[in-house]
Amino acid sequence: MMKRVKLISVFCLAATLSACGGATLMSEAEEAKIGAAQHPNIVREYGGAYIDPKINAYVETVMARIGRFSDRPDIDYRITVLDTPMVNAFALPGGYTYVTRGLLALADNEAELAGVIGHEIAHVTARHGARRQTAAVGTAVVAGVLGAVLNARTGLSGRATGDLLNVGGSAILAGYSRDNEYEADNLGIKAMARAGYEPHAQGELLTSLAAFSKFQSGGQEASANWFSSHPNNEARIAKARQKADSAGKKMPTPGQIGTDRHLQMIDGMVYGDSARAGIMRGRRYEHAALALRFDVPRGFKLNNGQTRVTAKHDNDVQIIFDLDARIANEAPAAYLRGTWATGQRLSGFQDLKIDGRQAALGTLKTQNGIAVLLAIDGGEKQIMRFGVLAPRGRESDAEAAMASLRRAIDFLTPRQAGAIRPYRLRVVTVKEGESVASLGRRMRGPAADKEGLFRVLNGLGQNDTLAAGSRVKLVSD
Ligand SMILES: [Zn+2]
Repeated sequence: MMKRVKLISVFCLAATLSACGGATLMSEAEEAKIGAAQHPNIVREYGGAYIDPKINAYVETVMARIGRFSDRPDIDYRITVLDTPMVNAFALPGGYTYVTRGLLALADNEAELAGVIGHEIAHVTARHGARRQTAAVGTAVVAGVLGAVLNARTGLSGRATGDLLNVGGSAILAGYSRDNEYEADNLGIKAMARAGYEPHAQGELLTSLAAFSKFQSGGQEASANWFSSHPNNEARIAKARQKADSAGKKMPTPGQIGTDRHLQMIDGMVYGDSARAGIMRGRRYEHAALALRFDVPRGFKLNNGQTRVTAKHDNDVQIIFDLDARIANEAPAAYLRGTWATGQRLSGFQDLKIDGRQAALGTLKTQNGIAVLLAIDGGEKQIMRFGVLAPRGRESDAEAAMASLRRAIDFLTPRQAGAIRPYRLRVVTVKEGESVASLGRRMRGPAADKEGLFRVLNGLGQNDTLAAGSRVKLVSD
């Protein structure tokens, strides 16, 4: 009898354990299954995989080395470079790990990359449960004015007028608790030290991430970045330094940093948006896959978001370009009336051609403002949509902007489309007499504050200067 009771209690204990653990105590096979199922979604959501044999082999080597010295070396780790300028990294259960092009560009050396990977896979090895995180969608300025004009059915809802996006599309990618973050930093640092990397690189990268985040929020749009899922503060950086001090003491030889190798690997890498996602050059937007080019009118500032291109003017007039699915070969006029502005009264409706393609134009007016809508044939199942939005009192500005935009839309020949080139990262050696200012002037790309970006990309503080012979990253054509 006693024996039996004991048996039952052992069984209960086991049952309770797995129940307590819930999703965080999945078997390895279950974890791998989840990772494998999510992997294609992640790759699609983040602009596809960046295929470059040199870079892919490099990150795989670093991944393998850190994985081998992690707390769960048995996991079959794999890593994908995501073709997006966003600065981000994350890992899924099962060892699927991701770093973005944006993050590789920001990292200064191999040890920093190892630190990011070590941190991300620590969330997996420590089986941190992800918390749900509400996406911050706050485009108050325009949304407040135009929210009533643009309902969800027009596809240009108030929410959609900005381009903040919900990065945490799946709960698996949502944020971790602060304690989990500290633990991941710590485990990452330990794995780095065991793998022979300089563990202080972890804190260095956190510092670069903070500087980049600050630069972005002070400059252009706040694009989704690592900080949306990773809290950061001085305390965290200080803690990482402390942990690195103690981890470093146990290392038999100085840790490897790998600056030359990292710079050699990222030299020539695409920087900013890919040609596939569309390239901005001044007021011009070019998209290879759509064979499309347009210039926004003078005074508008372009912004290439994940799902739409927007351009804003100081007078609160805004241009939005995006794509929508349509019933196969449905005429743009039918689409505009029946789908885009369904149930709304359109004025000034006209059927027209834009650079030889079938299109339809109409205007939505309400007491809050105006939306001038242009739908263009974008292939059998796709419609290209241009909307010019303005608050009340700016109606004529919106109409003028649409008139100008219509003339500036060009469809490209395959040859022209093939000639669209993304910006690239170049590693150059600083020559005698060159300065942050002179190199900043050589920077290309859409960033307004080019010298500021140069400093952030190269880990230079406001007062840091350059020594001749050192190597720096530049954004070039
Ligand atoms: Zn984390």
